Amino acid sequence: MTKSSKRHYLFGPVVSRRLKLSLGIDPVPFKTCSLDCVYCELGKTTDKVVKRQSFVPPREIIGEMIQFLRTGNRPDYITISGSGEPTLHLDLEEIIQEVKKITSIPLAVITNSTLLSDPRVRGALKSADIVLPSLDAVSPEAFARVNRPHSSLRVDQIISGLQQFREEFSGEIWLEILLIRGINDTPEEVELLREVALSLHPDRIQLNTVARPGTESSALPLVDEHLQELKEFFGPPAEVIAGSRHSSAKVQSGPVEERILETASRRPVTAEEIAAGMGLEMKEAEKALNRLLEEGKINLKQHGEKGYWIAKNK
Ligand code: SF4
Repeated sequence: MTKSSKRHYLFGPVVSRRLKLSLGIDPVPFKTCSLDCVYCELGKTTDKVVKRQSFVPPREIIGEMIQFLRTGNRPDYITISGSGEPTLHLDLEEIIQEVKKITSIPLAVITNSTLLSDPRVRGALKSADIVLPSLDAVSPEAFARVNRPHSSLRVDQIISGLQQFREEFSGEIWLEILLIRGINDTPEEVELLREVALSLHPDRIQLNTVARPGTESSALPLVDEHLQELKEFFGPPAEVIAGSRHSSAKVQSGPVEERILETASRRPVTAEEIAAGMGLEMKEAEKALNRLLEEGKINLKQHGEKGYWIAKNK
């Protein structure tokens, strides 16, 4: 890829359990978000905002998309997500509509739901094929502890926004609930979450837990058995997923080490994910990771049974 075709807003494609092979669009600056979730794998929120802004002109994103589509690559999904809350982009509607004009690849949006009470945000999402909103708590106490929201946000208003969105949106809704041991997995909170989740009639309820090192080391995952029990408790359409909420690892062309550092500076990644996302053999990925480790450019952090690579500039 020449310098002029370097991508700034597109990432991947990367493989994720939820969206298979997915090309990411990142329309907001790093860690610009209305929440500061304790489990956020991107680190602490640096710009906690609720005011929508035109962070980047849609034409720049579409320009990169046109270049990508010219390569003949065809991911399973195009996913608007990235390293902050994408509905904070004021021109989200235009971005979605322009992408839909130039490709038939299904378009998904991952959102933290906080702005869905705004009819303009719900309207912006109407052309998406799938929206993946999250809701990790119903009680204000758990909401504050898990999501550390912007001071203007109230969880009951977010739930109302989700309800209105369900009524208006004709595409699929995959509701994600991320559970943290000892914080939002109490029987009372889980009962409330189930009640609200079922009332939204989502096409899927995706139960997740802390899959990789988050902002706070105190954010611990639920064990598999507990997640499976909760899946039964929620009933269909619940499923257990385990993986990254923000699945768009930034992958640029260029030397392997450079691409790995790009990816590992966005979020902690396993060697398997590096290999799959970049189309490398495992051995090749491991060699490059070890080189970076020797050069002091990357760290390896153990989380549960897995090792996660994190670039030092993070
Ligand atoms: S997990 Fe998502 S919603 Fe939560 S702080 Fe990180 S970017 Fe924001």
